[in-house]
Amino acid sequence: MSKNNDEQFKNVISHAKEYGFVFPSSEIYDGLSAVYDYGQLGTELKNNIKTYWWKAMVQLNDNIVGIDSAIFMHPKIWKASGHVDGFNDPMIDNKDSKKRYRADQLIEDKIARFEKDGKTEKAKTLQSELDSALEADDLPRLKTLIEEYEIVCPISGTRNWTEVRQFNLMFSTQMGAMADGSDEVYLRPETAQGIFVNFLNVQKSGRMKIPFGIAQIGKAFRNEVIARQFIMRMREFEQMEMQFFVRPGTELEWYEKWKALRLKWHLALKPEASKYRYHDHVKLAHYANAAVDIEYEFPFGFKEVEGIHSRTDFDLSQHQKFSGKKMQYFDNEINQSYVPFVIETSIGLDRMFLTALCNAYEEQDLSTEDKQDSRRVLHLHPALAPIKAAILPLTKKDGLPEKAHEIVNALRLDFNIQYDEKDSIGKRYRRQDAIGTPLCITIDHQSLEDDTVTIRHRDSMEQERVAIAQLPQMVQAIAGWKGLLQELL
Ligand code: ATP
Repeated sequence: MSKNNDEQFKNVISHAKEYGFVFPSSEIYDGLSAVYDYGQLGTELKNNIKTYWWKAMVQLNDNIVGIDSAIFMHPKIWKASGHVDGFNDPMIDNKDSKKRYRADQLIEDKIARFEKDGKTEKAKTLQSELDSALEADDLPRLKTLIEEYEIVCPISGTRNWTEVRQFNLMFSTQMGAMADGSDEVYLRPETAQGIFVNFLNVQKSGRMKIPFGIAQIGKAFRNEVIARQFIMRMREFEQMEMQFFVRPGTELEWYEKWKALRLKWHLALKPEASKYRYHDHVKLAHYANAAVDIEYEFPFGFKEVEGIHSRTDFDLSQHQKFSGKKMQYFDNEINQSYVPFVIETSIGLDRMFLTALCNAYEEQDLSTEDKQDSRRVLHLHPALAPIKAAILPLTKKDGLPEKAHEIVNALRLDFNIQYDEKDSIGKRYRRQDAIGTPLCITIDHQSLEDDTVTIRHRDSMEQERVAIAQLPQMVQAIAGWKGLLQELL
């Protein structure tokens, strides 16, 4: 990360804390690594992202329904899904610093450094060596690569490495009173399996016809060894996943559709489009026949925000095998039963939150010839903004607060509104800019006479005079869901 980007990312993190978006978990006990709490504004932003996703999936599609399955599931599910045996990361320890690293990421960091230094050929060679070692699950080869390329521990600076070992990422705990291991259950590492095991329940009770989708938002847990980059990689996080069940043979067509639709969802929020890109998987998981990541350019580089995977009939077939229950669908259009194929769209809610925050944050220089001035502003899409409008009486007297409260009461039935009468109007504008409030509504003495107010727009800082009676429609047009959702049609 260049110094500028590093600085910018640090500023985003401290801004998130200062304004009540994200706090380190258990902070008064010095925190818990890779676990975070969402504060009063962060929770609003997170809920808005969830709503946007849910509406886009469930409300806008006739053939997608949503569920909420439990975090605890039968332990056999994770055997069937491959997580017990295969949900591993290759880890290596540095004996001097006692720090543990993901072996593949150490090598990837080296590749990134080669690229940065213009050593493109070296980067390419190492990338293909890494790919083939990962493909062959060749752990000793990963160790050799680390040695050959003289990769040092970022903490101790030494090359005193252990062997590379597999490390399972699932958290487990005991269910009930037995502590002998017989009742071991896992905290789900993904929400998808809760959808697969309910496939028939939903299909039958909802009389769903293929193609159809099941969406879910919920917590997932992974014992990530390298926890870094703030809420990018957490041990407890949330996923928004949708599994779309299709007739075998049509899956690649649906895969292309969902690939395009999901990027459209991101771009409807009007980020800088060049900050988004697709990254096709070269190395496919054994059960997938196509996979792509949607990546966003964070201050620390392009990283995955969402994955779209064509998972074939792997999951349903595995559950059929392990549970002994048929996971088939009778397709009366072709008079055939089959195990449906699945296209999955899987996005991390917290990563999406970080994307929205990084994309929105700006330190703006507003200095003029006579005066130094600046502001920190979050250019969040208004539909995602935690507070839609701030209601600000110019002074605390002359009946202005009372008038302002009338407006608060009229708007709060539909929108999240904040009332603020403290400090100068300029300071109040800055506070609202910093939390991304799209509209500031100021009540002054003229408001008492003609029932008009001043509206100040966050991004342009332009002001206009409007009738109080127009406010509900205006806030709706700017910050309501309709405008954003229409972009998806
Ligand atoms: P990565 O390669 O970054 O570990 P992944 O390929 O393991 O991610 P998936 O299993 O495809 O991720 O999970 C789907 C989505 O869940 C990811 O695109 C990401 O947004 C999110 N996600 C995965 N792991 C984490 C985590 N530890 N913290 C926050 N979000 C995560």
